Amino acid sequence: MYQLGILKGDDIGLEVVPAAVQVLQAALQGFPDVQVKWADLPVGYPSYLQNGETLPQHTMEALKSMDGWILGPIGHAAYPKNDPKAINPHPIIRRVFDLHSNIRPSRSYPSVTSIHKNVDLILVRENNEGFQPDRNLFAGSGEFMPNPDLAMSVRVISRRNSEAVAETAFRLAQKRKKKVSVLHKNTVFKLGCGLFVESCRNIGEKFPEVEYEEIHVDTAAALLVMNPQKFDVLVTTNMFGDILSDLTSGLVGGLGMAPGLCIGPKYSMAQATHGSAPDIAGKQLANPYAMIMSGKMLIEWLGIKYNDSSLMMAAQRIDEAVSTVIELGTVTPDMGGKAMTREMTEAICASLEKN
Ligand code: ATP
Ligand code: MG
Repeated sequence: MYQLGILKGDDIGLEVVPAAVQVLQAALQGFPDVQVKWADLPVGYPSYLQNGETLPQHTMEALKSMDGWILGPIGHAAYPKNDPKAINPHPIIRRVFDLHSNIRPSRSYPSVTSIHKNVDLILVRENNEGFQPDRNLFAGSGEFMPNPDLAMSVRVISRRNSEAVAETAFRLAQKRKKKVSVLHKNTVFKLGCGLFVESCRNIGEKFPEVEYEEIHVDTAAALLVMNPQKFDVLVTTNMFGDILSDLTSGLVGGLGMAPGLCIGPKYSMAQATHGSAPDIAGKQLANPYAMIMSGKMLIEWLGIKYNDSSLMMAAQRIDEAVSTVIELGTVTPDMGGKAMTREMTEAICASLEKN
């Protein structure tokens, strides 16, 4: 029996998270040996209205007993200012549950308009450090102003998390085209990126069959735009990864095409790259692809972790159904189609039920 949490979040999260759950449930129907207990847990603005806080303690407690969960996007920019109960839940959930690696694939589809074809790469982003240190380390956040005309931000890089993300990247590469590219800027951040690169090299030694390269992050930005086909798995620190994963989504059709899975030693969390997209929320315009494929990555990961071939096969079937529906063209406007979120989701479920 697996316990999976559903945290819808804000804005388009209320549309795309239920879409992902619907698709996972349709896929799992073909595998009656897999039992899942789902739990709907409040988070984000709807929770603020209901419970007076965006991240209730009982949600955090409930997550501890989950195998994994789906977390929707959070529109924290619009949260009431100066209310300590209206915090952005994302970074706290990532840190408390030690979700150090954020796995973000970018894949092109022949029938989806994109500036590149034949793209199939994964960017692994360190998730919990790099531009804002752990809140416990410093009072407040890692940013401060010694005087009103000077702002300082502390950049934290640890060997522990650098090695952990490198390990994630090499393990993924082992099952793919067997190449890892480390993106860094150790000519400028001699200590921070220096430690990151050293950690990646150390882990790389355990994977002699995987090709290894180190690229300056600025050079990599140009190469990704010109020749993304040369990459397999890329690994980098938090802020570089934040920016470049939006870039890699742009190569294959945009943010609606960018799924993600956050993993740590104990927990895993499906979380798409995109934000809460308030501009299109409530209109059935959101592309559910990113969230559905994030959910697919979650059950695939649990399948590998618990050596459960049914979960792995269910994930594989979602992959095929999504490809079929994309080929048929039942897709949202950002992908060049006319379908609503609901229609695209139902088409994927129908394809799953047929096969
Ligand atoms: P955040 O700071 O939370 O990352 P953001 O400011 O980067 O948020 P998003 O909410 O990701 O912004 O939206 C950026 C643009 O991409 C918006 O115009 C939005 O409509 C579009 N977008 C994001 N996600 C999707 C989606 N699933 N389907 C279609 N369009 C999307
Ligand atoms: Mg963003």
